[in-house]
Amino acid sequence: MQLYVHIPYCRQKCRYCDFASYPCQEETMSSYVDALLKEASTVSRLIHQPLTTGFIGGGTPSILPAPLLDRLLNGLQNTFDFTADMEFTTEANPGTLTADWLHTAMAGGVNRLSMGMQAVQPDLLQTLGRIHTHEEVVESVHLAHREGIHSLNLDLMFGLPGQTPDMWRETLQAALALEPEHLSCYGLIPEVGTPLFADLQSGRLTLPDEDDERRMYDDALELLARHGYQQYEISNFARPGAECRHNIGYWQQQPYIGLGASAASMVTDMEGELRMSNPPSIADYIHMVQHRQWAKREFVRVTQEDARFETLMLGLRMTQGVSEADFLQRHRVPLESYRGTKLKSLQEQGLLEHTNGFWRLTRRGMDVQNAILVELMDD
Ligand code: SF4
Repeated sequence: MQLYVHIPYCRQKCRYCDFASYPCQEETMSSYVDALLKEASTVSRLIHQPLTTGFIGGGTPSILPAPLLDRLLNGLQNTFDFTADMEFTTEANPGTLTADWLHTAMAGGVNRLSMGMQAVQPDLLQTLGRIHTHEEVVESVHLAHREGIHSLNLDLMFGLPGQTPDMWRETLQAALALEPEHLSCYGLIPEVGTPLFADLQSGRLTLPDEDDERRMYDDALELLARHGYQQYEISNFARPGAECRHNIGYWQQQPYIGLGASAASMVTDMEGELRMSNPPSIADYIHMVQHRQWAKREFVRVTQEDARFETLMLGLRMTQGVSEADFLQRHRVPLESYRGTKLKSLQEQGLLEHTNGFWRLTRRGMDVQNAILVELMDD
């Protein structure tokens, strides 16, 4: 079983962000941690498997004061069985990470750190509304290495307003100089309702054109491969053995439990997959847990068709692709009879390849992944 814990607090809202994260609600942190532990206790009575991975995400977990983090991690350890080799990640943001916080996290079982670096240029960091400088990224990475973190991820973003391919290469080089075990490179998706989206709509900011964006992605593939990072998912690259097991679990549709505001869960039973979600607001979440012991409020039974399509969609994100044998075992129907004609047509167009029982995107297919999924959606 995989565990996700959401910490919905940030120092300030980034200009592109539409996650459930809120600035200026520090006074609720203590009650929030109490609610997380109460929900954990309820959930632990329903699931009886040990945890294989844990992920504390946000928001910005590193703004949780160390004593509260300590209470949270101790409580989780007393509630769940952790497997001996459990991968336990926490997100943290440069500019908020301290040695004390990191000690506390590691004493509580954390062994992997994921930090948002995004870009090296101050102007781009400002456009994104990030609170940190690149110097703070460097300091935080050095701190993590000094404290004994051996599995570190840096998140980077490309396709940003005002970003050129040269600037992106500079960001990649700066990230490589910090020698992380893992890098995530996300193309910006402007989300409706964010300040950045409004600036793009009004013309105050403009995105790089498609050719430049494609070049940035190509540059990442080329440069990271040259430095020994293997791409294992559309946006994710790792040194051999440093792939994020928690995220691989999502892409392979492993069950997971989410605790906290906005957290989603997926469990399987005799009837298939069941999805549950928690309310996004901190106040609603705390209130629900106080009154009902947990905050799972929307229950959706995943249809057979949705589960099959999801296996295809998530499998194609991974560079190993979708396994025909796994598909058959999971859904009791051959992939060939589910979408065989469409897959072959996409193969003929050079967008998919089929080898050793796996279907995967070609490099050209990665550029038009969304169009491929739309094509595969209908029978
Ligand atoms: S730090 Fe992350 S979660 Fe917080 S506002 Fe920025 S992008 Fe959103």
